[in-house]
Amino acid sequence: MDRKAYKLPFIKNSLTRWVCPSCMKSRLKVKTNTFHAEETNESKKAHGHETWDPDWIEYVYSCLLECTNPACKDTVANSGTGSVDYDVEYDEDGSPSQTWGDFFTPKHFSPHLKIFLCPRKTPDNVSDEIQKSFSLFFSDAPSAANHVRIALEDLLTHLKIKRYEVRGKRRTFLALHRRIELLPAKYKHLQDLFFAVKWLGNAGSHSVKVVTKDDVLDSYEIMEEILQDLYVKKSSQVKNLARKINKTKGPTKGKKKA
Ligand SMILES: [Zn+2]
Repeated sequence: MDRKAYKLPFIKNSLTRWVCPSCMKSRLKVKTNTFHAEETNESKKAHGHETWDPDWIEYVYSCLLECTNPACKDTVANSGTGSVDYDVEYDEDGSPSQTWGDFFTPKHFSPHLKIFLCPRKTPDNVSDEIQKSFSLFFSDAPSAANHVRIALEDLLTHLKIKRYEVRGKRRTFLALHRRIELLPAKYKHLQDLFFAVKWLGNAGSHSVKVVTKDDVLDSYEIMEEILQDLYVKKSSQVKNLARKINKTKGPTKGKKKA
């Protein structure tokens, strides 16, 4: 996962680090003549202030992004905010000098970017929640974290972990923490990963702490590992086993008959 691609601002008219959500192969670039930025009214007004500096400037922007894969070339709409900050320029001798540069922070993409690819066998509702999370990532990190938590709840249901227990005549829903504790032995190696996603998601829904893009990227990385383990590695292990059996044309374990 290229974390910097989703955290750092971008510079106008450059090839971005964002991967095309359509082909998931090539990077997106700003489509010629589509980038438009303007200073906000408040920002314009501030120019008259005696201590005004270029780093007071605030922009809003919109543009179209185009996939650089000639076989795809799909278009993504993008908008967000911008600001002015120090940038470094190099002269012919390679000596650096400081200048002011425009930096833009994306807030919305349509269609949304796919920060990681869910394995094909991921249950639909788990994948849907992760997509919802991706669509909120740039504008609302706590909500993005919360949708990963919902994906985790749905995943536990797919792993046949009960959602409630009956006490007397009353049905009580189990807390996510308790459900993770109920993971059977075959999933025990994933328990720590499940707990980690739970903590990050808790912060997203209860606002105990400020949830940053970095926290959400952490939960994506862990969720990706869980899904890979459940829906990719397992099948590749089975494939390897089948390959072994086919190679020996019989059982691979046990001793040969004398
Ligand atoms: Zn593409």
